This record gives sequence, structure tokens and C-alpha cells, in this order.
Amino acid sequence: MEKGKVLYEGKAKILYQTDDPDLLLQYFKDDATAFDGIKKGTIVGKGVANNKISCNLFDLLKQHGIDSHFVRKLSDNEMLVKNVSIIPVEVVVRNISTGSLCKRYGLDEGIVFETPIVELYYKDDALHDPLMNDDHVMAMELATREELAIMREQALKINKILQEFFDSIDIKLVDFKLEFGRFKERIILADEISPDTCRFWEKGTNRKLDKDRFRQDLGDVEKTYNEMMNRIGRKL
Ligand code: UDP
Repeated sequence: MEKGKVLYEGKAKILYQTDDPDLLLQYFKDDATAFDGIKKGTIVGKGVANNKISCNLFDLLKQHGIDSHFVRKLSDNEMLVKNVSIIPVEVVVRNISTGSLCKRYGLDEGIVFETPIVELYYKDDALHDPLMNDDHVMAMELATREELAIMREQALKINKILQEFFDSIDIKLVDFKLEFGRFKERIILADEISPDTCRFWEKGTNRKLDKDRFRQDLGDVEKTYNEMMNRIGRKL
């Protein structure tokens, strides 16, 4: 697969064109940012870990009938993906309270929700990704009601599949963020699923196994990404 021009460079990934207009190469960087880009750093090996973890989890979801932009792994840092048009609405699913939810609503950390909370955020760095509801999404013509219904339904299905998988490797899936895109009249899952976009707590100890180690300077950052890659890879 020919690696063409850079189509888009984000904080953690680069999308390259390929010789097929329907396909892109998604490259995972070691760069890490937090708090709206204020905190910057490098996590050695993060690109390799996030690529492998995302490939594994997209494969798992496919086995359960969830289609995504993932086509195949190309190298340690690269996967081939479908050239979707990203819907600028981030879908966050929360099983346990933490992060911005606790800050916004004054909740204690660690409340286990009986029903998962689905939140929508406007994907716009300059506006700091504000929280939004269905009416905002429709008024701003970011997605139709039908598209939103698909995104919600898929997000909840994905939550069930991932919760069950992580439970089997003694990890609690606390929360995560998904992005969807349009591809040939369909809505499919896109972006990545990794410790950059999910929160994972170890069962029993509640040890944090995700990007919070970088955000909160908890140490063992590189080691944790590597550990997650191995724990997931051993099972899948
Ligand atoms: N998240 C993400 N990208 C974002 C914002 C959040 O991947 O731009 C993920 C984050 O890793 C966590 C979940 O979405 O798994 C919920 O994040 P939260 O709103 O608590 O954000 P934070 O505490 O990082 O501000």
C-alpha cells in the first residue's frame, strides 16, 4: 500500500492518503497531550501499543457484528482504514463516575451507574469540545436524528462487548470516547479505541491503566501502555 500525502495531522495520529481514494493509512504517534493541549509529552511506545490495541478491539467488535473503518494492520504503527467523513460529535459512554463528569456535577469518583450515561461533545478544539445534546446536534446540522440514534445504539452495544471483554481480563471499563464517520451512505465507527480514549481500572486494586497516568503524573506511563497491549493481546 503506497503512503501518499498527509491528509490530516492530529494530536496523536496522522492520516495519509493511499493509492485508493476509499482507503487511508492511520499512523499512531508517540505524542501525548492532555488538558486541551496544555500538557504535552512523549510516551515512548504509545503509537505501537495504541495501534495494536485498536486493531485487536476493532477485530473483536467486528466478530460481534460492529462494523468500523478498520481494514487491516499494516505495521507496528500503522493501520489501513476506510476514508470516512468524520461526524464532529464525540460520543462518550460512562459506566463509573470520574473525570469531567465529577467536576461538572460535583459527584464523587467511583460511582457505578446502573445504566450507562451517554454524552455528546462537539468536536472542536478551539471551543474546547463543549458538551451538547441531540437538539444542538440537529440544529447545527452535524447529524440527523436517525444518525444520532444509530450512534447511540452502536455506542451502547460497543460498551457491552468491551465491558464483557475487559471484565475477562480483570479490568473495569470506566468510560470511553467514540467517533463515527459516514462511508458510502452508512455510519461506521472510526478513530481509535485505546488507553488514550478509554479509562481502565484494574479490578481489586483500582490501579489506573490508561492516559490518566500521564494526565495525573502517576508514573509508569510507558510501562502501562505496554502492559495493556500485552494483556489485551494475550486474550485476543
Ligand atoms: N476522551 C477522549 N478525548 C477527549 C475527551 C475525552 O478520548 O477529547 C475520553 C477520555 O479518555 C475518557 C472519556 O473520554 O475515557 C471521558 O473523558 P472526560 O470527559 O472525563 O474528560 P477529561 O476528564 O479527560 O477532561
